[in-house]
Amino acid sequence: MFLLKIGGRSGHNPLAPGASGIIDETLEDRKIFLSSKSYLEKYNSFVDCYPGNMNNANTELMYGINKANSNSVDLFYSVHLNKAYDIYNGAIGAEVWVHPNASSSTISIANRILNNLKNLGFLNRGVKTSSELAELNSTNMEAMIIECFFCEATTDVSIYKKYGAEELGFAIANGIDPKVIKNTNSNEVNKVKYLVIYNNDVDKRAAEYLADYLKCATINETNYDSNTLKAETIITVGGGVKTKGTLALYGSDRYETLKAVLKYMNKL
Ligand SMILES: [Zn+2]
Repeated sequence: MFLLKIGGRSGHNPLAPGASGIIDETLEDRKIFLSSKSYLEKYNSFVDCYPGNMNNANTELMYGINKANSNSVDLFYSVHLNKAYDIYNGAIGAEVWVHPNASSSTISIANRILNNLKNLGFLNRGVKTSSELAELNSTNMEAMIIECFFCEATTDVSIYKKYGAEELGFAIANGIDPKVIKNTNSNEVNKVKYLVIYNNDVDKRAAEYLADYLKCATINETNYDSNTLKAETIITVGGGVKTKGTLALYGSDRYETLKAVLKYMNKL
């Protein structure tokens, strides 16, 4: 698993506002975006493409696009709320827009986001394609516009009020990067006795031998978040692991790494 370089923004800004229904798009999509960003930037490199205050809708749109292009991000996303009617009694739901040339992995990401939103109760309107939208046709990378729900639909807004921007931001972040896991309060942090960390499938077997011996868990370094998983003793297996553990076991290749692990086990 490699690190993604992600560019994102919330749609519109206070000087060039978006839709207004029961709630205001510009205000709420900002909160949802900031929540998604806080999750994604823990695991990936993140470029914030939000323009701040710009009073021309086209200028502010191009600001975000140019920032994503000049930073060569791998994936760009823009968070919006939708609107179709003046008032609407009931549910309408979530949709994600991609370019007709979007890759299958981008479509998978869009579907994961929609599934996460569906799990909160929003109707899934599916992945839609358009070549007319600037954020899709003027970005050089894979891009998507996430229309979380309809701001005039009573049921949509009540689901949003039930879960809040934090949960919707998590739904987006986890859809983009499934490594992203829920924030936990510090008093809920797991603390285990031993943890074995590897970062390469080649060293996974050796890590598992050691973990069986210690009766503990292994974790791939790409999934490891030191804020949410604490261990008294962390043992890293393989030369490529960046995490500073209590003890590092590695050799010049996979066999030497395995030998180092076996040697350590005999010594225990
Ligand atoms: Zn919008």
